Amino acid sequence: MNTKRLTTEDVTQGAAVIAAGGLLGIPTETVYGLGANGLDPNAVAAIFAAKGRPQDNPLILHIPDPSWLERYCADIPATAYALARRFWPGPLTMILRRKAIVPDAVTAGLDTVGMRCPDCAVTRAIIAAAGVPVAAPSGNTSGRPSPTTAEAMLEDMDGKIDAIVDGGPCAVGVESTILDLTAAPPRLLRPGGVTLEQLREVLGEVSVDEAVTRLMSTNEQPRAPGMKYRHYAPKAPVTVVSGEPEAAAQYIAAHLEPGDGVICFNDYVNLFEGCPVEAIGPADDQESHAQHIFEALRAFDHKDATRIWAQSPDPTGLGLAVTNRLNKAAGFHIIKL
Ligand code: AMP
Ligand code: MG
Repeated sequence: MNTKRLTTEDVTQGAAVIAAGGLLGIPTETVYGLGANGLDPNAVAAIFAAKGRPQDNPLILHIPDPSWLERYCADIPATAYALARRFWPGPLTMILRRKAIVPDAVTAGLDTVGMRCPDCAVTRAIIAAAGVPVAAPSGNTSGRPSPTTAEAMLEDMDGKIDAIVDGGPCAVGVESTILDLTAAPPRLLRPGGVTLEQLREVLGEVSVDEAVTRLMSTNEQPRAPGMKYRHYAPKAPVTVVSGEPEAAAQYIAAHLEPGDGVICFNDYVNLFEGCPVEAIGPADDQESHAQHIFEALRAFDHKDATRIWAQSPDPTGLGLAVTNRLNKAAGFHIIKL
């Protein structure tokens, strides 16, 4: 298949791919998504095939505005609308009870569905023009780091999808926050661009699922099925070093062996001269860490590194999402200083 490159002007062409049951790479503010008609089980099956995604890992439905929620969801609590007013369009996925119109292929048979309204005008326009919700997981091959540019998505998907809309680099850079609104209190299943602190401002109490902070074994059933899979992994093994930034950088420098690569804050690049380094921004710039973390992990697949050391940000605010992705890339191989 020849994958067409579309621009942000090509709303009609993008919508036509969705309406015809095809696969479309879509930009969002979080990461690029692999989208298809979320009401068409065959189109949804094609997403799983292109990614090599395990069948028990459900997809998120993307909608152009909150008024579409009631088409696909039942028993919607008032808090869902309060969250939508505050954070949509934006990087928040809400887990709600689904209606029967949502195919099992999307929800992996669960009685709930993940709903999101992305903060990306072209993608919302394509969904509205197609007239159907777009089911879209991240646009990577399963297990690989999520793509934050159209080029990164094409590394995995060129020839496997009908078209991709190039909307430039993603502003947030990590996937959406997933919040289960069918749990009491609401439960954070995956940290992302909307922070736990922001959710608590609106909701008061929010619990944090265990899968956010520890490795789940294969026989456990986390609330977000995707959280049990090894994820975001570059080809070389990753070790995360958490703790005060200067101390973590010094620890890595002291343990570095020839052939090792490093992911670090810009402040410490000079400690690692002569070895492959990816800098993810100044130590105190969490937005930059989120924007650059997946590109940094992907970059090592084009460099010769036998092992990768990574500095980890402080797990507050957006730092919780970045540390979660890094810890997962490392299979939770973490050195705590
Ligand atoms: P991705 O779009 O690749 O970021 O993957 C979607 C994530 O949303 C996966 O971790 C899924 O397990 C999670 N997810 C989707 N639908 C549900 C649901 N109904 N309940 C819990 N988690 C979900
Ligand atoms: Mg994904």
